[in-house]
Amino acid sequence: MRQIDHFMVGGAATSARHGEVFDPNNGVVQAQVALGDAAVLDRAVDAALAAQPAWAATNPQRRARVMFRFKELVEAHMDELAHMLSSEHGKVIADSKGDVQRGLEVIEFCCGIPHVLKGEYTQGAGPGIDVYSMRQPIGIGAGITPFNFPAMIPMWMFGPAIATGNAFILKPSERDPSVPVRLVELMLEAGLPEGILQCVHGDKEMVDAILDHPAIGGVSFVGSSDIAHYVYQRGVAAGKRVQAMGGAKNHGIVMPDADLDQVVNDLSGAAFGSAGERCMALPVVVPVGEDTADRLREKLIPAIHALRVGISTDEEAHYGPVVNAAHKARVEGWIQKGVDEGAELVIDGRGFSLQGHEDGYFIGPSLFDRVTTDMESYKEEIFGPVLQMVRAQNFEEALALPSQHQYGNGVAIFTRNGHAAREFAARVNVGMVGINVPIPVPVAYHSFGGWKRSAFGDTNQHGMEGVKFWTKVKTITQRWPDGSPDGGNAFVIPTMG
Ligand code: NAD
Repeated sequence: MRQIDHFMVGGAATSARHGEVFDPNNGVVQAQVALGDAAVLDRAVDAALAAQPAWAATNPQRRARVMFRFKELVEAHMDELAHMLSSEHGKVIADSKGDVQRGLEVIEFCCGIPHVLKGEYTQGAGPGIDVYSMRQPIGIGAGITPFNFPAMIPMWMFGPAIATGNAFILKPSERDPSVPVRLVELMLEAGLPEGILQCVHGDKEMVDAILDHPAIGGVSFVGSSDIAHYVYQRGVAAGKRVQAMGGAKNHGIVMPDADLDQVVNDLSGAAFGSAGERCMALPVVVPVGEDTADRLREKLIPAIHALRVGISTDEEAHYGPVVNAAHKARVEGWIQKGVDEGAELVIDGRGFSLQGHEDGYFIGPSLFDRVTTDMESYKEEIFGPVLQMVRAQNFEEALALPSQHQYGNGVAIFTRNGHAAREFAARVNVGMVGINVPIPVPVAYHSFGGWKRSAFGDTNQHGMEGVKFWTKVKTITQRWPDGSPDGGNAFVIPTMG
């Protein structure tokens, strides 16, 4: 059995406890991953503490050059990474490459780190006084990542953290840990000094050790909302800065004037791509007006029947299996809940079996109509290939749905009416908005983050927000007296008046 160990200075380290890593295409255990504890973390932190001061003192252009080389190495290993990712996660190869590519775009942003780290300067803020500020690394950062983007999300975090001069300890999802380890290896191959990026594995025990460790100054978390909230509270209580991104339930509003063929095409990918296991998936569609709803439903049904579910290496497949048996059971449980609550199950994806892969974790696509806001299956995140239609009678009703939902990650509006789109973008109570764009994940030099229970803390991922999260501002007020007494009263708070 292949072992996936902690990747630390001084070589791999293992642990007494292990988790199982499945191949979701056939339900077979393909590896065992070490589940670490506080002692393993201590070792990683000691190595990080030893390495970080020299890295912080390395000029930012040299740090950026490591990012350039890493980008080239990842590109050279794209096929290997995509196959590894696909075999543990279950997303199809093209989508796995997208996962790697979206992370690499953050690395590209980090190649320009010397520019964004420049501080502010005010000459003559007072008589003979200049004020300037600089951004300094927080020291040691840690990242705790979910299973659904095992390449992109680690890179969202370690790219900006390392480029700004920190050491970083990654704790990836124990469900698909191989790609994160490979990325760490490639960073070292790119010239990163030992100790600046290490990978420890584990579950709650390791997460708690990270949150409590006094030498770790910042924690970035992405995962489900209850755990995000817990991580936020415990990390902040321990005096750290914490950004904790949570779950989602993104809505797609379809105005009566929308191009419905385009909407159906966009929705198919956004609701069912990656088996719906994306925090920026679009699992709720809100047609405005009964006529729009009926026309949309008529077009959606054949499009959903045409979706091809297959193993993750099947080039013709639109999506592959979900990540494990427990998640499959959970998604199917939500489908049953929707039926019990009185929603109309138009297409039932349960009971789907793929010939030759009967033990794989496949779920066919499902469509619900007449879902209402009082249903638990509407309020909670399903995170599977299930599209729910909630009918709204007018624009205001449609706007209220995502605005009042507990999650506020992303939302989209489909329309040809610029005024309606502008109004919607300004008023909706959600962090990321798409206008005729179904999955509005911002580009790397902007920043990613939802509102409400989709994100705890106040700083987004990547872009300038990422740089801010991983650095502290130091502000210097300087005066070089010429020797003549200035006659000021030292007992009064200094002013520039
Ligand atoms: P998860 O919350 O189960 O796990 C996330 C991380 O937390 C993992 O590293 C895991 O080891 C750790 N963890 C698990 N249980 C824990 C516990 N009890 N205490 C402390 N740590 C624990 O999430 P997941 O299933 O891996 O990922 C899917 C979830 O992530 C979905 O809810 C999805 O919406 C969300 N997500 C959000 C974003 C975003 O940016 N908002 C992006 C991707 C995924």
